[in-house]
Amino acid sequence: SIPLSFFAGIGGASKEGVLVKGSNYLEALSEAKYIVFDKTGTLTKGVFEVAGIHDAVIPEDKLLEYAAYAESFSSHPISRSLCKAYGKEIDQTRVSDVNEISGEGVTAVVDGTSVAAGNIKLMKRLGIECKECGSVGTVVHVAVNGSYAGHILISDQLKPHTKQALEELKKLGMKKLVMLTGDAKRVAESVAKEVGVTDVYSELLPADKVSKVEELLEKKPVKEKLVFVGDGINDAPVLSRADIGIAMGALGSDAAIEAADIVLMDDDPLKISKAIHISKKCIRIVY
Ligand code: ADP
Ligand code: MG
Repeated sequence: SIPLSFFAGIGGASKEGVLVKGSNYLEALSEAKYIVFDKTGTLTKGVFEVAGIHDAVIPEDKLLEYAAYAESFSSHPISRSLCKAYGKEIDQTRVSDVNEISGEGVTAVVDGTSVAAGNIKLMKRLGIECKECGSVGTVVHVAVNGSYAGHILISDQLKPHTKQALEELKKLGMKKLVMLTGDAKRVAESVAKEVGVTDVYSELLPADKVSKVEELLEKKPVKEKLVFVGDGINDAPVLSRADIGIAMGALGSDAAIEAADIVLMDDDPLKISKAIHISKKCIRIVY
């Protein structure tokens, strides 16, 4: 039978906007020692803004148009920002052969011209040599007809409570705060430093995130639980693999909400420490 205080705990959590899918997750949460975060949409807002266009070998507005058109079928935060920066209505009948490669970018045919937009990994795989970008930010390289056409620098911002959330987690005695991201090393390291994450792994594909979590699961004592927190864009598999998967409910995808054990209704990372706090209180009452 489930002790009554667990029901109170689940109820208390839900009043805070934290949806716990079962009392077993509340119990596990009270033993959390490792918190693994996704970056984009979890620690950061996942709302990118175009900060600049560099090394363009075609007119800059044309470069942005190609990128926005190629990205117009994607729901990734990067795609949304490019379409927003383009500003005009997009006639999707001009786009065909769309292929979205998770953790890399997209390829598509726009007005009969092949366009690729994404990170260095995508460019490498297509055999396109690309220019390094000197600034810190997420870079979308664009290739047109198989040749490098320039890159668009976009920047994201931390969520307002991210730093405080990590401080609270440290106070609660977490052993490791880890960040996993598909984004470039430079961006990952600057975000990690700013928020106080101790371990950072960058340039990971969704499958690499799963292997990284499996590696961490193997190394730690069974009694110490591992939590993964993600927005679920590309990380539903890792949400289910962790001892406890926490998803952002507002920005997150349906797949993430489905795969998660706990859902934060308002996407506020500060709710993670609140939930752990509630779980510990329940456990003290039960035992
Ligand atoms: P994170 O792990 O930070 O949440 P994702 O796994 O969603 O990020 O994406 C990882 C990286 O893959 C991005 O930083 C970007 O470089 C590239 N990427 C993914 N989707 C797209 C896209 N639609 N357009 C351009 N680049 C993309
Ligand atoms: Mg993400």
